[in-house]
Amino acid sequence: MDLWFNEWNTDTCKFSIKIKDPIYSEKTPFQKIDFFESYDFGIFFTLDGMMMVNEKDEFIYHDMITHVPMSVNPNIKRVLVIGGGDGGTVRELTRYNSIELIHMVEIDERVVRLCQKYLPVTSSKLEDERVTLFFEDGIKFVKNKESFYDLILVDSTDPIGPGEGLFTTSFYRDCYKALNENGILINQHESPYFDQYKEEMLKAHGKLKKIFDVCEVYQFHMPTYSSGHWLFGFASKGLNPIKDHKPEEWENLGLKTKYYNSQIHQGAFMLPTYVRELLESV
Ligand code: SAM
Repeated sequence: MDLWFNEWNTDTCKFSIKIKDPIYSEKTPFQKIDFFESYDFGIFFTLDGMMMVNEKDEFIYHDMITHVPMSVNPNIKRVLVIGGGDGGTVRELTRYNSIELIHMVEIDERVVRLCQKYLPVTSSKLEDERVTLFFEDGIKFVKNKESFYDLILVDSTDPIGPGEGLFTTSFYRDCYKALNENGILINQHESPYFDQYKEEMLKAHGKLKKIFDVCEVYQFHMPTYSSGHWLFGFASKGLNPIKDHKPEEWENLGLKTKYYNSQIHQGAFMLPTYVRELLESV
């Protein structure tokens, strides 16, 4: 059987992966979850038909969401991950002995349980003793927190379905309040290329810019996400991702990474002119 997973960038342009075997499919109260085995990307899963995580390129996303803020503030001790049910972000965080507490708030417990079954490498550290899992809506969870976290990582789906409220001004305000005075927020910032993603990226950036004192954007190459060009937002109450970058302190930790390094940290904030102009327009 000739089976392909298609993700549409526009009505007339798609990204396709040939499927070796469909593995599992389930509809939860929040979304449709599908696991597949592919020839080129190993096992991957989709939520409502959108690529989330695959075995081959997940290291890129998880390196960049984690090591960038950790090398700006090596004193980060309390971390909140919102979404991130596959566990890849938590796995990278647990490599830092200095982190004392990781709260992961995932709305859909089934994502976690299925990733523990089918993506054991990605989800391997969800049982670390510093990690507490909360199966609830991240929007509500963050509402009553004040000056508690050093770092919030918004490892969300796209702004449709349960992820929609994670791209709102009130959610970003609550995150600001939940962070202490050195706090950093990293936001899944979508992509600058195809219109649908670009619009969401600009909306998110405009909202964060109104709330946070420092608001920068960095890029990375994600082969299986739309256009392969993806962004994270770096927002903080004062720390600057370039001026406060501490490459030597980070390198002294001796962490082995496959994508992140101190040069790519600096380079990731050097954006193409069209992206810079887009960001300046909001
Ligand atoms: N890094 C991947 C990406 O961007 O495609 C995947 C991120 S992870 C799988 C996204 C998770 O966010 C999903 O498991 C989804 O259930 C969760 N999520 C969506 N909305 C949420 C909300 N309001 N609160 C907590 N978790 C949420």
